[in-house]
Amino acid sequence: MSDNKIHEIAVIGGGAAGIMATLRGVLNNDEVLFFPGSAKNKKRSRDMWVAKVENMPGYAHYKKGIVEPNKDTIEWIQQSEFKDKLILKERIGVEKVEQNMDETYTITDTKGEVYLARYVVLCTGIMDVQPHFDGTIDKIFPYANAQTADYCLRCDGHHVLGKHTSIIGSGDGAVWVGVMLKERYNTPSMSILTNGEEPNFSEEVQKLMKLYKIEVFDSNIVDVIGDKKEGILKGYKFASGRELQTDFTFVSLGTIVYNDLALMVGAEADKRGYIVTNEKGMTKSHNFYVAGDIRAGFKKQIYTAWDMAVDSLDDINRKIRTRNRLALLKEKGL
Ligand SMILES: Cc1cc2nc3c(=O)[nH]c(=O)nc-3n(C[C@H](O)[C@H](O)[C@H](O)COP(=O)(O)OP(=O)(O)OC[C@H]3O[C@@H](n4cnc5c(N)ncnc54)[C@H](O)[C@@H]3O)c2cc1C
Repeated sequence: MSDNKIHEIAVIGGGAAGIMATLRGVLNNDEVLFFPGSAKNKKRSRDMWVAKVENMPGYAHYKKGIVEPNKDTIEWIQQSEFKDKLILKERIGVEKVEQNMDETYTITDTKGEVYLARYVVLCTGIMDVQPHFDGTIDKIFPYANAQTADYCLRCDGHHVLGKHTSIIGSGDGAVWVGVMLKERYNTPSMSILTNGEEPNFSEEVQKLMKLYKIEVFDSNIVDVIGDKKEGILKGYKFASGRELQTDFTFVSLGTIVYNDLALMVGAEADKRGYIVTNEKGMTKSHNFYVAGDIRAGFKKQIYTAWDMAVDSLDDINRKIRTRNRLALLKEKGL
């Protein structure tokens, strides 16, 4: 072991859920061993990609709506009377988790250090599948960074108000995104870009496409037209030679769930890879919790990630208090 103790709680992942789990844990006066993730973990996580958060009151002034307030929160904890409750493993992620016979977990971090913890809260999140144009995912990034290519409907759908809009995707899900945005924000045009994939639309969806004059472009996208530096999107060039004028794009290609550590300890995943839990966030693996986007059955949002983390940490605190209370009663012979 890298230290000679059994840690009470380990929180893995330093995005929206992980920071709330850590904050709630230390405010509950429980010790938290916190692995926010390595540079590699960060690069492939949603928290790094989130820029302006406009759907949460008081958040629009942050340039990076998860990373900046999370940093402030850690600094606040480190100056608070709860500072000794936080063991921060800065820029370190977790490679492996194993369940032991004595109801502890062995955690191996990205530096090869090994720790024991009684409770684990996994908050490693998900990532949106990126579109390839001309064989590379790099062409979408200037626009994703400027939020003219968006991924989260509930977060950024309002950006398309009165704008020519397109959705990258080839199934019913992509069309439903288009229909909702069209109805809500009265987009002057709506297009579905399958980027070379075979369109696969149900009859119901085809009717709606007719109703709203949603055009399908099924040719491969070969280039993005726009101002890369400013992130201003103007349209796409297709392999067919056609061009499309569009001001905003939503990417609707599905997600990758970072569930490998949960699967290692026998947690159950649904068919999309999200981890199934009880109402407090505990998985099939005893005292192994998940919170945030990785958890099945919840909205994929910052405020829902927070709520899940609070429920899990309060449940863990209840278990710790019960254990300590029973030990005290026994000690006093009561
Ligand atoms: C472009 C975009 C914009 C969005 N805008 C909004 C918005 O405006 N409002 C809103 O409410 N929601 C928004 N969302 C959704 C929001 O980002 C997620 O709901 C939220 O980040 C989920 O929190 P999480 O903690 O589950 O995951 P994340 O915030 O993605 O955090 C995952 C964390 O796990 C860490 N990690 C991964 N693997 C490991 C490992 N092996 N070991 C240790 N750490 C690891 C990563 O470093 C990261 O810190 C947006 C999403 C996207 C993609």
